Amino acid sequence: MDNCIFCKIIKGEIPAHKVYEDKTTLAFLDISPVNIGHTLVIPKEHYINIYETPENIMMDMMKTVKKISHAIKKGLDADGINVAMNNEGAAGQVVFHSHIHVIPRIKNDGFGLWHGKRPYKKGEEEMAVKKITQKL
Ligand code: AMP
Ligand code: ZN
Repeated sequence: MDNCIFCKIIKGEIPAHKVYEDKTTLAFLDISPVNIGHTLVIPKEHYINIYETPENIMMDMMKTVKKISHAIKKGLDADGINVAMNNEGAAGQVVFHSHIHVIPRIKNDGFGLWHGKRPYKKGEEEMAVKKITQKL
């Protein structure tokens, strides 16, 4: 993809602080980190998000995520780690090349987590399960 910033990183056209790569995935520091060591794991081929990315490539990405998570915990003394993937604009995706965030968390670092808005109303859980399972 010509205009994709992550493809440019893969091709070496723009710089990045790489932490790991293998045949199908690349991991590098996020330019605007939540905490020091915030890393992005991407496929070397251009896929827009989780819907497009083939299952085997998602698995390769998760293998790299696990490797990086252990290294971040040990190397940066992280108290915790968030693993997150934003898919589509409504979910906060800004760069449209599949990526998984691996974010080191430090106790009291001030970054919260999303909170549940409200409990389910009667029947909503059953409806949600039905709607999801129909599409599996
Ligand atoms: P998302 O909202 O999940 O699409 O996140 C995209 C992430 O890419 C953001 O956290 C950005 O800080 C990060 N980012 C954008 N451009 C670069 C770049 N050139 N090098 C490293 N990270 C980048
Ligand atoms: Zn790309």
